[in-house]
Amino acid sequence: MKQYILALDEGTTSARAILFDKNAHIVSMAQNEIPQYYPHPGWVEQDPMEIFACQYAAMTECVAKSGIRSEEISAIGITNQRETTIVWEKATGRPIANAIVWQCRRTAELCEQLISDGHAPRITEITGLLPDAYFSATKLRWLLDHTEGAQARAEAGDLLFGTVDTWLLWKLTDGKCHFTDRSNASRTMLYDLDKGDWSDELLSLFNIPRAMLPKVLPSGCMYGETEFMGAALPICGMAGDQQAALFGQGCFEPGDAKNTYGTGCFLLTNTGSVRVKGDGLLVTSAASLEGEPTCFALEGSVFTGGAVIKWLRDELRLIDDAHDSEYFAKKVPDSGGVYIVPAFTGLGAPYWDMHARGMVTGITRGCGRNHIIRAALESIAYQTEDLLSAMSGKAGFLGALRVDGGASSNDFLMQFQADISGIPVIRSPITEATAAGAAFLAGLTAGFWQSRAELSELTSGGTVFEPKMSAAERSRLLAGWHKAVHACVEM
Ligand code: ADP
Repeated sequence: MKQYILALDEGTTSARAILFDKNAHIVSMAQNEIPQYYPHPGWVEQDPMEIFACQYAAMTECVAKSGIRSEEISAIGITNQRETTIVWEKATGRPIANAIVWQCRRTAELCEQLISDGHAPRITEITGLLPDAYFSATKLRWLLDHTEGAQARAEAGDLLFGTVDTWLLWKLTDGKCHFTDRSNASRTMLYDLDKGDWSDELLSLFNIPRAMLPKVLPSGCMYGETEFMGAALPICGMAGDQQAALFGQGCFEPGDAKNTYGTGCFLLTNTGSVRVKGDGLLVTSAASLEGEPTCFALEGSVFTGGAVIKWLRDELRLIDDAHDSEYFAKKVPDSGGVYIVPAFTGLGAPYWDMHARGMVTGITRGCGRNHIIRAALESIAYQTEDLLSAMSGKAGFLGALRVDGGASSNDFLMQFQADISGIPVIRSPITEATAAGAAFLAGLTAGFWQSRAELSELTSGGTVFEPKMSAAERSRLLAGWHKAVHACVEM
């Protein structure tokens, strides 16, 4: 009897494996930290062999300690840190260099050059992205430029490129499958969203040989099989982490939105088969199954989300634990007119100011620690509200926000989000929405679950925070926030 789905969740800092049962309950979980390398300021690398080793060890431990037999696993789904770029030798499987991680800024200058050469509008038209060092294209260009003989070898078909999904799949299938999924492809800045394939125009702009690119498949389809603990297991779901979380939250319909409150915040709204114009937000491929049309999503991110609470803890030393922020924030009726704009690394959508820096405004003699802590938590909600309002006009937003991620456990923050955005906030009953998304994709494809309707039952419920604030109070607070943000942007 096939009773389980195994999800591999290869994040930026750790590789995890989670075994789900039919009710999407977690049966077993294992995790390994991934070593990070910082060879120069602003550079971030990982060793692809270590990524695979951490992931393989996690999956082995997860299944071994669960006590189940591997034949009881119906299918495997993969979700991963997006954009991180790996190049390896087709014949040996040896990476030609370390993986360049999404956070790495080494190609920022190349991106500025692209913008000053006037390529930005066309790149956005084709890919839905804004030219930035986050995305894989310039990282791949960098690897081909800085590894002896790499361009010629790539042209000869001796080298392969992949994001982390592709690398794990290739390794797990002993080099038989060189595929990616649409959601990961759409973060490379080489993928044509409308055509649903690599863009010849951008491949030629970046001088990337097509021979090294994986084939793009739907997020839910039969990718291949892996021999694992004596059983041949089908891998039949792959999606980038944010798109997987959207799926794992049960956001299947146009207008459904989710926000993940982690270090940063990632807000995605499903826009169905319609590619909505981004206007400062990114357009991306959401997860869909074989035989279905491409599904799109609008995406906006907050660079400093839960990290502002870490700053209170580690730098200002106002709290000992992130969790305590809720207790102190609730001790005062409001922030006393204090606003914190945590633009530690600039501001993302909808402001896009890389040079903005953080600010605390509205301090009076009566301002104390509780006000500062409360203002820090509120800043996470205000930034999310800015994304929601940028999306609201265009994405057919249905009016409730589903939430997950570490900081979503903070009831004060969730209530303030509902109040300031004037919409219900629903905290998912599924705590591991990203891994669940990968499991759902694999499980639907394998016939383990029959339909999205069945999954909607599993993802419904959770804790609902209803908006309680008056419209007048909401506009007064938002006006104060926008005044603070603009002071920060104009600095
Ligand atoms: P990531 O996956 O980005 O590493 P997590 O989802 O684990 O992040 O969330 C951790 C972040 O959330 C940290 O930045 C931490 O400061 C913040 N955080 C965790 N718990 C709380 C809480 N109860 N209240 C506010 N922020 C929190």
